[in-house]
Amino acid sequence: MRVLGVEGTAWCASAAVYETTDLRDSDAGSVTIHSDAYQPVEGGIHPREAAEHMRDAIPGVVADALDAASGPIDAVAFSRGPGLGPCLRIVATAARSLAQALDVPLVGVNHMVAHLEVGRHYAGFDAPVCLNASGANAHVLGYHNGRYRVLGETMDTGVGNALDKFTRHLDWSHPGGPKVEEHAKQGEYVDLPYVVKGMDFSFSGIMSAAKDEVDAGTPVEDVCRGLEETVFGMLTEVAERALGLTGRDELVLGGGVGQNARLRDMLASMCEQRGARFYAPDPRFLRDNAGMIAVLGAKMYDAGDTLPVAESAVDSNYRPDEVPVTWRDRETS
Ligand code: ATP
Repeated sequence: MRVLGVEGTAWCASAAVYETTDLRDSDAGSVTIHSDAYQPVEGGIHPREAAEHMRDAIPGVVADALDAASGPIDAVAFSRGPGLGPCLRIVATAARSLAQALDVPLVGVNHMVAHLEVGRHYAGFDAPVCLNASGANAHVLGYHNGRYRVLGETMDTGVGNALDKFTRHLDWSHPGGPKVEEHAKQGEYVDLPYVVKGMDFSFSGIMSAAKDEVDAGTPVEDVCRGLEETVFGMLTEVAERALGLTGRDELVLGGGVGQNARLRDMLASMCEQRGARFYAPDPRFLRDNAGMIAVLGAKMYDAGDTLPVAESAVDSNYRPDEVPVTWRDRETS
């Protein structure tokens, strides 16, 4: 089977072909990803500029992905949401045209479920708890009765967006997350507000406090260190409680903030202490990428979970618990 994935929910125009002889065996397949990132000239992601980037970049990455494929495509999968509406609409239009031109089915993929499923696929896990720590989102998911349930989530901004807003205050270029990681390595811990309410977390107050610390003269390295320890401690606490409450012993990490080594270390040591298995995918599958769309698209296509073009509208608020997990029965049959 050979599935083309197309991604473009925010900043990354990406296309990938997933080729496999056995969907249940991650060693039996290969994914080639072609991406073209939008880089804001100043500030954060501007939705219109990002959509213009998608319009300009998608044809090239799709052509590269198709050129690299070793044979005909069986299905076209695309990110249906969540994401920036103007970007989603351009990518969906491209995917519909491609499916019709190639005369193959269209598959509409939930971007956040794809962040989870690509990790589950390569880990070989059954029904893990998942921490998605990305730019626009932060949530903990657990599988129950045919859906990935949202066990805990941010009450305000996504975790990466919070870090990016802090670095914008410092006039650092986008994205800020990797720069916070670099500066934190030289810093001493400073206290910042730690906000976990039940299974949910909040980042906006921490970001305001971090900006105030810098403005008051605290070295920026120390504030970055405090930010990492506080924000990632919150994510780790909720992930641990989710493992405890669900009785699961597998944790998978998803999303661009998952590229941060300190977050991965905290999660790995928490899992080790409670005897759970932890898996963080390669960075190319953590940040936005079409490889994860192609992998989940292949599983959905195999399960017959395809979309008529007339019903393929995008959904910028598409939540993971709206997705019927159609592909699990095929894996266990
Ligand atoms: P979503 O998947 O919710 O649509 P997104 O489109 O913003 O999110 P991702 O690629 O998942 O994209 O994540 C991008 C975010 O990851 C940015 O906010 C960026 O600052 C953050 N990030 C990238 N690398 C690191 C790092 N090393 N440490 C912390 N944050 C990072």
